[in-house]
Parts: sequence; C-alpha cells; structure tokens
Amino acid sequence: MDISHILPGSLHVITGGMKGRKTPQFISVFDQLSYAEIKTQVFKPRCDYRSELHEKFNLPHNYIVSRTGAHLPAVEIDDEKPFEILKNLDQDAQIIGIEEVTLFEQPDCLVEIILQVLNSGKAAIVAGLDKNFRGEPFLPMSSLMAYATTVEKSYGICDLKGCSRLGEYPQRIIDGIPADYNSPIKLVGASEAYEIRCLEHHEVPGKKDSKILRCF
Ligand SMILES: [Zn+2]
Repeated sequence: MDISHILPGSLHVITGGMKGRKTPQFISVFDQLSYAEIKTQVFKPRCDYRSELHEKFNLPHNYIVSRTGAHLPAVEIDDEKPFEILKNLDQDAQIIGIEEVTLFEQPDCLVEIILQVLNSGKAAIVAGLDKNFRGEPFLPMSSLMAYATTVEKSYGICDLKGCSRLGEYPQRIIDGIPADYNSPIKLVGASEAYEIRCLEHHEVPGKKDSKILRCF
C-alpha cells in the first residue's frame, strides 16, 4: 500500500484469505506510518489472541502478531461490543487501524463506526478475511470493500497436496471432516481446524450446488 494514498476520510482494505500475509502487510503499513511520524491508533478484537504465536514471541494480549514475529501494539476491544472503538478513540490519531474486522459481532454496527471515523476526517485501514468457511462474503468485509478507496487482496496456495491453485476459500474441518454448511459458528468440545483451499477443493457439505442456477 502506498501511504501517500491514505488521505483524510479514506478507507483502505487489506483482505483475502488465510495465509495470504494480511497481518504482515497491515503491520508493515503502520510501521511505515510511524517512521513518517503520523499519529495512528490500532484496534483488534479480544478473541484474536493466538496463543501459539503470542507465547512463542513472548507478547501480551494487546499486540497483533504475525507468523513471522512482526508485531504491533493494539487496543483490545470486546468482540461483542464494537462500539467501544468509538469510546476509546484517540482524537489526535490521524489514521485508525482495525485488524480482523470479521471477528467482531454486529457487523452492521462496525460499518457505521468506521463511517463515523471517516466522517470525522480520519483515515482508516482495516484487515480481515473476505470469505467465511461457507465460501460466502464474510460480513462486514463485503460492505467495507464497497466503501474502500483501495482494496488489496492476497491469498496463499491451496493446502491440498499437489494443487498449485490459489487457496481463496477457508476450509473448516471439525473432528477431521469438512464442516457442514449449517454447523454452528462457535463450537464447544469439538476439535476444529482450518485449511485453505481453491474453489475446486473447497468442501462444504449441505451447500447448494453453485453450478445449478437458482435465480430462475
Ligand atoms: Zn486445490
């Protein structure tokens, strides 16, 4: 991202899939802004604590950390209360960052908050997944991409052995099998994992076949 494009009232989206290097990109932009002595403030949802990474790099909860160890301090916000971003807003900050926007509850509320931030003359940079495990737009990212001045998308390569296509879809796996379309978003007592898959290798049992037109 060219930081000269980050003008007052503009929104910039860093999105794509898991393993697409969204977090390192997000951290790198805020590093550049700090060198330019631009005042920023960064937020993240409380649930975005990756024990394997935070503990490996010895970082407390109020840090965003990437797989490479790059990190950035961030104000933790209760995932269920995105409006607390406004309560904690530093009025002197020119650019506001919000990481993992799709992990907040009340996606419509988060969009309103971001529009209010833009209307106050600040710029915003947000990051998060573009699609959920069903392979559908992950709210509020679809709205944020529409409001954005710039959108950067990046993906890793499909995790299926021998496949070299882009892994544009998050594959949710519960107890070793692909998660059903109607499986609950939050699980208790099951082992859950995510991989990245290309469209051909993305499996969502119970999802209507996208090859059959439903608009007629
Ligand atoms: Zn594949």
